[in-house]
This record gives sequence, structure tokens and C-alpha cells, in this order.
Amino acid sequence: MEQVLEKRKCMGCSACMNICPVGAIEMHEDKEGFKRPVINQEKCINCGACRRTCPVLNTQTNQALNKCYACYSKDEHSMANSSSGGIFYLLADYVIKNKGIVIGAAFDKHNKLNHIAINELEDIIHLQGSKYLQSDLRDIFQLIRKNIKDKLILFVGTPCQVAGLKAFLKKDYDNLITVDIICHGVPSPKLFKKYVTEMEARENQKLVKYIFRDKTSGWETYSNTFVFEKGQKTQLASENNYMKLFLSDIALRESCYDCHFKLGNKYSDLTLGDFWGVEKIKPQLYNKSGVSAVILNSNKGIDLFKSIEKDLIYEECRLEEILTRNKSLESSSRQPKNRNQFFGELETKSIKKLTNIYCYKNFMDRFIKNVKKEVKKMIK
Ligand SMILES: Cc1cc2nc3c(=O)[nH]c(=O)nc-3n(C[C@H](O)[C@H](O)[C@H](O)COP(=O)(O)OP(=O)(O)OC[C@H]3O[C@@H](n4cnc5c(N)ncnc54)[C@H](O)[C@@H]3O)c2cc1C
Ligand code: SF4
Ligand code: SF4
Repeated sequence: MEQVLEKRKCMGCSACMNICPVGAIEMHEDKEGFKRPVINQEKCINCGACRRTCPVLNTQTNQALNKCYACYSKDEHSMANSSSGGIFYLLADYVIKNKGIVIGAAFDKHNKLNHIAINELEDIIHLQGSKYLQSDLRDIFQLIRKNIKDKLILFVGTPCQVAGLKAFLKKDYDNLITVDIICHGVPSPKLFKKYVTEMEARENQKLVKYIFRDKTSGWETYSNTFVFEKGQKTQLASENNYMKLFLSDIALRESCYDCHFKLGNKYSDLTLGDFWGVEKIKPQLYNKSGVSAVILNSNKGIDLFKSIEKDLIYEECRLEEILTRNKSLESSSRQPKNRNQFFGELETKSIKKLTNIYCYKNFMDRFIKNVKKEVKKMIK
């Protein structure tokens, strides 16, 4: 077999690599820095297992329950290390106290983001907080399959990673709880690596930890904090070049512009996101440290929510209320026209230069388009 799926559609879930019975598929980093399956033609026996497993080639419409809540954790300490309302921490705490395993995204000592498994309460901190780049799943699906019969497992990831896991496992297990995040799209790990390398060169010291959602400046107006060997620095996310590139959508994986795993096609038991705009919709629930939007997609999700209810401040809400300020739940980010040109220049231009060229130009394009639209309306 030449390839499992055309490049643009592959979201890198690694289900095909994990299912191949002869180990003919490896995940290789492409020019843009995203992992993709590469088939070793000498090993491939053309059995088709990869194509029968790929969740993009085998999508089904999933009827979710869509029971929705605005909520946050009562525990201020764990809230501070979380991106939104600290719901992930409570779920992880519940699973570990029940002798289970929690799997989520954590940085290694080289600032590379991987999915890892933990079973100790003190390790939850490594998984807490959003990291805005694609996480490498490696062979974590096989570890899940090995442990699924005798342990409770909580897997947290992007909606496509959850779809990949479900496709790999082929059937539902009572012991498996899956949580996905509302997903804007994932930037390239190569871009993040370049950003860190340039920062380390400027500071002349190693980066020890990167916090994307430091809430000391507020939950909505969050900052990025860089912990170095000697001291740390904090910068508002709105002034940070990496965040500008992420939020301008220029550096996302191609599959994110036509994501197959939005509302109506979710495979998780529970979905987590930020409840942006909660102060207008449910002012009594506003909390300056963060408020989560939680969507329960299955009966398992309902049971799980019940088990953490006592540790939450919460109120039921309507799906439309979450959607008002969170379009990523139902639609994909738009691909900027010059996205491929951006990746063509990723190796040769500095992050500062790339931000100046691409964020400014796309902002101006959008601005001019909006002005034209308004003028047309006025003429009509
Ligand atoms: C790339 C990305 C885009 C997002 N886009 C949106 C959005 O558009 N709208 C919105 O409302 N919310 C978005 N979120 C989700 C939001 O930022 C919070 O992660 C979520 O609300 C959970 O918050 P929490 O306080 O309960 O848990 P937290 O303590 O923040 O836990 C976050 C969980 O997400 C996992 N995680 C972190 N980074 C990644 C990653 N790169 N890949 C896979 N899993 C990861 C961690 O393992 C952990 O389990 C996004 C998150 C990411 C990583
Ligand atoms: S299974 Fe996942 S990694 Fe493999 S081709 Fe399909 S989307 Fe890509
Ligand atoms: S936007 Fe869709 S394809 Fe992209 S990372 Fe998120 S879930 Fe996966």
C-alpha cells in the first residue's frame, strides 16, 4: 500500500501505526513538523488493516447526549494550575484514587510534548494545563489495550485523538473513560521547538518549563510564563509571538481546517472547554480563576460527572449558550491563504519576522474585507 490516507486529511492519530500486524508503519515528522504514517513497502502485506481502522476513512455520525454545564472546581489550588475551571484535575484525582491510570499530554525534559500515563496523585500537575501544539501519542494506544481489562483508564486528548483510540480498540470498554477538549486546532511542534530555541539563545540559558495559561493576569487575559534555569519571565498571551501565530491559524495542521470531529461526531464521554462569555450568560457563575464548559456525551460521562459533583460549583446550561462564544466546538478554523507560504519560510525566517509578516498581513486582510462588507451594506 502506498499511503493510508491523503496528506491533507490525516490528523496523525497513529491508530494505523498501532494496528498494523507486521509493524510496517512508522510515524515520521514531515517538513512542517507534524507526525505522519510512512509505510515500509518491503514489510507491508497489503492486509488493509490500517485503512479499515483509520477514523477519517471510517467516520460515523455519533449521537451524543449533549447535557451541558457551566462549572468550576471548589479547590482554588488545583484551579491555579488548570487552564479553565480545573475539571480535568478532579477527574484525574477520582481515577487515581480508584487505582486507575490517567493519560494526557505532558512535556519531557527537552520540551517535547508527548502523551504519558500516570498513576500517582503528585504527577497530575504534569498533565494539567493546555499546551498549544500537537502532542505525540507514540504507542500509548497499545499501553491502554494492555491495561484495559484490569484497570480504570482515563484518556484525555483532542477529539481526533479520542476518535483514533476508539477506532484502534474497535469496541467500547466499561473501564475506559475518554475526555476530549474543545479544539481550535493544533500548531506544529516544529514551530514550538524553533520558538524555544530562539528564546534560549536570547536568554543564554535553558528553558525548564513553559506555562501557556498562567492565570496571574486573569483567566480571560492569561499570560505565558517561561521558567528558565535561573528565574522566570511572564508575558501577556496577546503580546506573545507564539500565541499570535497560534491564534492567527497560520500554523495549524492541515487536517484542522476541515476537522471531522466537531459537534455531531464526537467519540468521547465528556468534552471540556472554556466557558467564554459566562459573565453575560450566567453572571452568578462567573469566577475570575476560570469557568469550564462541560458537555456530557454519554451515560458514562453522566456517571463520571456525578462522581465529582460534590467538588464543583455548577449549573446546567444549554448547548447554544456554550456555542455563543466558542465556535471551535462546531466549526473548523479557517485556513489563511498564505499558510503554505508560511511553512515554506519556517526554517529561514525568525519567529519575530514570521509574526510581523503573517499576523500583520492576515489581520490587515481581514480588516479590509470587513470594511468592504460594511461599505457594501451601507450602499444597499
Ligand atoms: C490545542 C488546544 C486547543 C484548544 N482550543 C480550545 C478552544 O478553542 N475553545 C475552548 O473552549 N477550549 C479549548 N481548549 C481547551 C482548554 O484550553 C482547556 O484545556 C480545557 O477547558 C480543560 O481545562 P481544565 O481546567 O479542566 O483542565 P486542564 O488542567 O487545563 O487540563 C488540560 C487537559 O488537556 C490535555 N492537553 C493539554 N494540551 C494538550 C494537547 N496539546 N493535546 C492533547 N491534550 C492536551 C492535558 O493532558 C489535560 O488532560 C484547547 C486546548 C488545546 C490543548
Ligand atoms: S489512522 Fe490516523 S495517522 Fe493513520 S492515516 Fe488515519 S488519520 Fe492518519
Ligand atoms: S481541530 Fe480536529 S483535526 Fe485538528 S487537532 Fe483538533 S480535533 Fe484534531
